[in-house]
Amino acid sequence: MSEDIEYLSLFRMPTPMKITGRSSSITNAFINSIIPIIEPSGAQVKQALQILGMTADNFQCSYCGATATEWDHLRPLVLNKKPTGYVSEIHNLVPACGKCNQSKGNKPWSDWMVSDAKLSPKSRGIKDIDIRLKRLADYEAWEQPTIVDFEAVVGKEKWEQHWANWELVQNTMKQAQVLATEINKSIAASYSLKN
Ligand SMILES: [Zn+2]
Repeated sequence: MSEDIEYLSLFRMPTPMKITGRSSSITNAFINSIIPIIEPSGAQVKQALQILGMTADNFQCSYCGATATEWDHLRPLVLNKKPTGYVSEIHNLVPACGKCNQSKGNKPWSDWMVSDAKLSPKSRGIKDIDIRLKRLADYEAWEQPTIVDFEAVVGKEKWEQHWANWELVQNTMKQAQVLATEINKSIAASYSLKN
């Protein structure tokens, strides 16, 4: 019996998945897909790294100092399921590691860094967090990033169509999940009949 418990403690069921569990990924995709990418010049990248206390030789995550693998949007592109108007340009991008990028999500950077969020710099005990906060504040003050009024640019009709598409996808996912739950229950019932 105690051996049974020991074996059972080794088992982990994979996390059950729901179609509606992808809801926020879909929202992010609807917003990210309309954000233009503005390529920086080499001089701009150099200046960006200087403000963050880096050179080409010590290119690192601005938040924690680990090896940088990507550039993260300092101010989020998405807030409360709506675009903030920021675009992918260097004034709103900083070198980051995958852990920080994932943990930060759409949270404001300065709150997140000192929060107890899983894998936040504070949670991981990053020592020079105050210096990093200061450099990022300097970076934010470097140059005002562009904020685009997307609706004004594309016109009301196309903008509303984009969000009607979003709603259609969300509603289809909800309906599909109802059917998926029903199918799941039927299959589970047929399984317990056999065993
Ligand atoms: Zn990091």
